[in-house]
Amino acid sequence: MQRKHYDAEHEAFGEAFRAFADKAIVPNYMDWERAGITPREVFTEAGKSGFLGMQVPEQYGGGGVDDFRFNQILDEQVALAGITGSGLGITLHNDTCLPYFLTYCNDEQSQRWLPGIVSGELITAIAMTEPGAGSDLSGIRTSAKLDGNGGTPGSEGVAAGGTYVVNGSKTFITNGINADLVVTAVRTGADKHKGMSLLILERGMDGFERGRNLDKLGMHSQDTAELSFTDVRVPVANLLGAEGEGFAQLVKKLPQERMSIAVSAVAEAQAAFQNTLRYVQDRKAFGTTIGSFQNTKFVLAEIATEIDVAQAFIDRCVDRLNDGELDVADAAKAKWWCTELQGRVIDRCLQLHGGYGYMTEYPVSRAYADARVTRIYGGTTEIMKGVVSKSLGL
Ligand SMILES: Cc1cc2nc3c(=O)[nH]c(=O)nc-3n(C[C@H](O)[C@H](O)[C@H](O)COP(=O)(O)OP(=O)(O)OC[C@H]3O[C@@H](n4cnc5c(N)ncnc54)[C@H](O)[C@@H]3O)c2cc1C
Repeated sequence: MQRKHYDAEHEAFGEAFRAFADKAIVPNYMDWERAGITPREVFTEAGKSGFLGMQVPEQYGGGGVDDFRFNQILDEQVALAGITGSGLGITLHNDTCLPYFLTYCNDEQSQRWLPGIVSGELITAIAMTEPGAGSDLSGIRTSAKLDGNGGTPGSEGVAAGGTYVVNGSKTFITNGINADLVVTAVRTGADKHKGMSLLILERGMDGFERGRNLDKLGMHSQDTAELSFTDVRVPVANLLGAEGEGFAQLVKKLPQERMSIAVSAVAEAQAAFQNTLRYVQDRKAFGTTIGSFQNTKFVLAEIATEIDVAQAFIDRCVDRLNDGELDVADAAKAKWWCTELQGRVIDRCLQLHGGYGYMTEYPVSRAYADARVTRIYGGTTEIMKGVVSKSLGL
């Protein structure tokens, strides 16, 4: 179905990103998949070309446009270019981490961090998950205690500009190896929700160690790591917003993270569909093309329909996000529905490729492995259904 979602400016931005990706990422992508990481230079190159921090005010070097459709079209081009693992680092930086800096940084923090985020010299990550707490975020145990000239948490200590001493560990952190700035959920008080704060931990702080780059089923060129904190001294000047607001800040920003995942999920389904459509018109069996079998026609007709239906919902959600009206439940609906669709569609596309679909040199094979995690990260399908059912009063 023809979309009327983008203006010429968005289309031009998407085409420019695609040209960048085809030149700077695609030729090296399989090497980076084998290496398990995308080089940091990809971020600085992307930054130079204006593909990072589109929402950042111009005074800090950003694009100054508060319109998620620029993120959306970039995310879609990542999928269509077949560079999911490398692209995720960029989309996480733009779609998921940046909003915390944009909304919660004070002037001093904005000056310190936003220019580097835009240029790609400061790569970002967000660390919520711990070995003992994933779905249940309120169970995190990484602690941040005010020290020395601090005082009582939540009052004079923060105002006086003391130091937090951070201890604990995080796991499964996307951009975990590459990241310079990590938005870290820490416990600053006993209350499950009001005792949580967001602190920025920076590369090079004593006691901040990165574990190994985790070996995964898919998304190989995306670095995913464990982080550990042993008596890391973090200035109070690195606190985002006020102490104790962390949980509320996460609840406010998670819908955009979930939209980003949902946008990419539909785009990944679309990319697999397009690849498969080409493949079945070329591959022959029983003296005819695979595409001429009624089963193939019906499967692809169903997939085309499902993608169009999902895309219409996604575009509507993005409009609501832009208007500041996207609620938590709608973002959860988009996330679980579109990622389940992605898994279903790519599985069926792989089947139509036969044995070739199982070979990693075929994009559909990598898409299959890459897709599995989208039903898990950013909140699992089960947790998303919990959010939706809560909105129903259950
Ligand atoms: C590749 C990858 C990248 C990631 N990147 C990041 C990142 O950058 N930052 C970050 O903070 N985290 C990240 N994560 C972590 C991810 O968000 C968590 O894995 C996810 O939230 C699930 O948590 P868990 O793994 O602890 O599973 P668990 O919480 O242990 O869940 C296990 C199972 O139980 C189910 N379950 C749990 N609670 C309920 C319930 N109340 N009702 C019904 N079912 C339930 C879950 O749905 C799941 O099926 C990443 C994970 C992966 C795999």
